[in-house]
Amino acid sequence: MNSAAQTFTQFPLSAAMHAALRGAGYHTPTPIQAATIAPALAGRDVVGAAQTGTGKTAAFVIPIVERLRSTAGAERRDMALILAPTRELAEQIHGWTERLGSGLRTALVVGGVAYGPQTSALRARPSIIVATPGRLVDHLQRGTIQLAHVRIVVLDEADRMLDMGFKPQLDRIMRTLPPGRQTLLFSATLPPDLGALARMHLRDPVRVAVGPQALPPARAAQDVYLVDSDQKTPLLLSVVGENAGNMLVFARTKHRTDRLTRTLRDAGHTVQRLHSNRSQAQRREALDGFRRGRYRILIATDIAARGIDVADIRRVINYDLPQTAEDYVHRVGRTARAEADGHASSFAAPAERAQLHAIERHIGTPLPRRTHAAHAARPPLRRGSPAHSPGAAAGSAAVPPAIASQMPRPNSSGVRHAAKARPRRPHSRRS
Ligand code: AMP
Repeated sequence: MNSAAQTFTQFPLSAAMHAALRGAGYHTPTPIQAATIAPALAGRDVVGAAQTGTGKTAAFVIPIVERLRSTAGAERRDMALILAPTRELAEQIHGWTERLGSGLRTALVVGGVAYGPQTSALRARPSIIVATPGRLVDHLQRGTIQLAHVRIVVLDEADRMLDMGFKPQLDRIMRTLPPGRQTLLFSATLPPDLGALARMHLRDPVRVAVGPQALPPARAAQDVYLVDSDQKTPLLLSVVGENAGNMLVFARTKHRTDRLTRTLRDAGHTVQRLHSNRSQAQRREALDGFRRGRYRILIATDIAARGIDVADIRRVINYDLPQTAEDYVHRVGRTARAEADGHASSFAAPAERAQLHAIERHIGTPLPRRTHAAHAARPPLRRGSPAHSPGAAAGSAAVPPAIASQMPRPNSSGVRHAAKARPRRPHSRRS
């Protein structure tokens, strides 16, 4: 990681770009920006491994805009293509291309909306196309998109695109692109199948890794409530009622998302929901309302885990634990973005113990146990666990507001040691 770049003046950027960065309040490059912008400006391929919320978007938008602006004559037709896994993420990236690249024509190509306006935008020869892979391939098949002039392609959240089954679409798109193009690949994790993709499609890339791989942001305080499943909703109502600030709540299914939204609304909270059965207009309204504070609480399935860039989410609540540890990291990455602090609480029912252990193994440390006096898990579920006994809960309940935080005690020597490869906790095989 290159930590030498203290301000953006260190890079050979245009006056227009410096003005746009100042307007965005960006003064100091984040580590991924410090490491990526110079090689990308120089035309190198880049593989960037960085956690969510590290400033990846500007790390590729800045060099794209500068390179496109600097081309002249026939090269004015040069284009950049940015691929992202979700509509929300694509929309956000598109917003940044407009903000940092004023004067360049852009197009947003995502599913869930009509083809007509997209086709018109594509016909107008945009310099930057931001797309989700599925809709882009639809346009290729309809003959409504031309990729022959793409000089720079970005694969953002590449691991997620593979997870979501976009490999065939990515292969198709990469085959269609001209061979001499520059490729920038960003990913939170670099699993082997992504390595294979990079070897096939990138030329001698500069490899940039920022921070510990695939870990939640260090500024996010994390904890877990061990709770019976029928107590999750009352616990959520308590946590929502006792803590100020906006909250992003993750639930496992669309149905649970809908149900929780109704419950919180009935309890008088401003709340909206985000999941894939909602129309694109509804999803946009939910996200926008959450961003602007019209809704204090947004309830979402994992579809929202990667795409959301709301600058200041105070708290993420995993009402249901995610299926994978990677999804946990991405969910928690929604809070504590950029310079802000945040908090992530998870509700783990007995049936979710295996997921909890997988998460703790992945992040390398046990999550501090919290107990809410009104909603503690029933004793039989935690037989033999001193950290979760009714006595422990009552003993710590003096901490206002009836919440106590305590670490699990796999042994007396402390948390770090217990966190190593095989965390063994008293409740580890009882789910
Ligand atoms: P990203 O990882 O691109 O989604 O960025 C995460 C958050 O950091 C967003 O809210 C960005 O606006 C913000 N951000 C990105 N780069 C900078 C910077 N150099 N200075 C301050 N904030 C930034």
